[in-house]
Amino acid sequence: MAVKRHALLLLLICRLLSTLGLTVAPAEPLLQLFDSGIVRLDPPALEAASSDFGALFTAAPTAVARPRSAEDVAGLVRSAHAAGSSFPVSARGCGHSTHGQALAPGGLVLEMAHGRLPGPRPTPVYAGGQHYVDVWGGDSWDDVLSWTLGHGGLAPKSWTDYLHLSVGGTLSNAGISGQAFHHGPQISNVLELDVVTGKGEMVTCSNEENSELFNAVLGGLGQFGIITRARIALERAPQRARWIRVLYSDFAAFTRDQERLIALSGERFDYVEGLVIVDEGLINNWRSSFFSPKNPVKIGSVAGEQRVLYCLEMAKYYHEEDGGEVDGAVERLLRWLRYIPATEFTTDLTYVEFLGRVHRAEERLRGKGLWEVPHPWLNLFVPASRIADFDAGVFRGILGNNTGGPVLIYPMNKNKWDVRSSVVMPDEDVFYLVAFLRSALPNSDDPTQSLEHLKQQNQEILEFCHHAHIKIKQYLPHYKTQEEWVDHFGPNWNRFIERKAEFDPNHILGSGHGIFHPSPSPSSLFPS
Ligand code: FAD
Repeated sequence: MAVKRHALLLLLICRLLSTLGLTVAPAEPLLQLFDSGIVRLDPPALEAASSDFGALFTAAPTAVARPRSAEDVAGLVRSAHAAGSSFPVSARGCGHSTHGQALAPGGLVLEMAHGRLPGPRPTPVYAGGQHYVDVWGGDSWDDVLSWTLGHGGLAPKSWTDYLHLSVGGTLSNAGISGQAFHHGPQISNVLELDVVTGKGEMVTCSNEENSELFNAVLGGLGQFGIITRARIALERAPQRARWIRVLYSDFAAFTRDQERLIALSGERFDYVEGLVIVDEGLINNWRSSFFSPKNPVKIGSVAGEQRVLYCLEMAKYYHEEDGGEVDGAVERLLRWLRYIPATEFTTDLTYVEFLGRVHRAEERLRGKGLWEVPHPWLNLFVPASRIADFDAGVFRGILGNNTGGPVLIYPMNKNKWDVRSSVVMPDEDVFYLVAFLRSALPNSDDPTQSLEHLKQQNQEILEFCHHAHIKIKQYLPHYKTQEEWVDHFGPNWNRFIERKAEFDPNHILGSGHGIFHPSPSPSSLFPS
């Protein structure tokens, strides 16, 4: 039995070495990692790393690794770097990308989120006048919240709507939610990183030290290095959230109120988001659990002549000892908003429950078999000056009366974003996130639920913006050609390729994005 296993191991190593084209010297660390079980070549491991939440693209790696330290990551990347540009490496967090961004066709996937590192849980530190915590790049935000809350009631300041995402995964994009207007995206709340570059070097970086790498990696789509440690700024966590939703039929009033709310500097809400509602079903959709079942709302009963409704969503956080003041503060803030009278829905929950709202929706969808379906999501940053044109052409035009999933809309202040980071934003002080979070239902009789229909609509939305000269930027971007990437980065393309040449000269990292390599292939799991 032992002889057979040994023979199999040799066979697999030979396969790996021939794919890598390595001499034994650079392969040495790889062999050691293989021996210790960190590198895996078995079909279940390869299959699990071949697709993602989107289920739209598939690409099998040659090997999967579950690194247990930054040194493991560096050893693996050094081996791949030594093989030239032939062996792509991608970090994978929770695999919640939608367009194959964390895949490594024919290469190596580093499963950063596969279990916690050995050793004690991270604990917050107070130094230099602020609280922070150091976490592993593969840790999930959900875990970070529970560790920091458990030590002195602290928490990160800026979130995503859903916390089962890895720290490295969201910091490679930006990490946004309704707090971003005030605290900036998650990448604006990182104090320091440990990064393994595409050359396999381990580098500590911050705005003060190795700042070019620090800014390259933040929002850098995994192109410049693998985040092994992130130092996240913390604050005293609120205990409760007053969560309010109000409805509008007038888009101008809706966006005027949203933009006024994010401009407030004194008394303000802590979270501002919004939803576009074009179909009856979606007013009570998976992102808006608290409208139903107690207060089901019929679009027709409030929208009048308008077919589309806009829901402004706000939250005021508070500490229990200040509970007596929250009613007054909310009333003062709501007083000047111009929503449809009698469409105010309020709930009050713990801060942790509020942050866990999308995870609860996930559990409901999983129960109905509606989570593991294709997700042709489209996320756009739209300049505020053109959001009314976007409404007329898309929400009240292309979408028809069935969106296939929640459509989020909320503005953010650009001055909370660091233009030195790699993230790409519109060239305006205020821009909106518009997120089409749609699910295709492959076996539905309704053709508007098909993957083909939703992909076609996404394309129409992009073409509409192009023809109307609305200078949108994709968030969590996906493109098929390098020309489109050049267009996406615009004036920052040169900076992008200079950084790539410096930190990943062999172009081994982040191949799933298809910037320097062919994109992964469309998935055949759910044909359109
Ligand atoms: P993966 O999909 O595993 O990887 C994403 C990218 O990051 C890849 O390019 C990968 O190579 C790179 N990467 C991963 N780990 C590292 C690392 N350690 N170092 C360097 N690069 C790395 N986003 C928001 O901003 N706001 C939201 O509110 C939000 N809500 C979401 C809700 C759901 C249900 C889902 C599925 C996604 C949501 N997202 C949201 C999108 C999400 O932030 C991104 O898809 C993110 O990349 C997912 O993190 P992940 O750990 O799954 O990353």
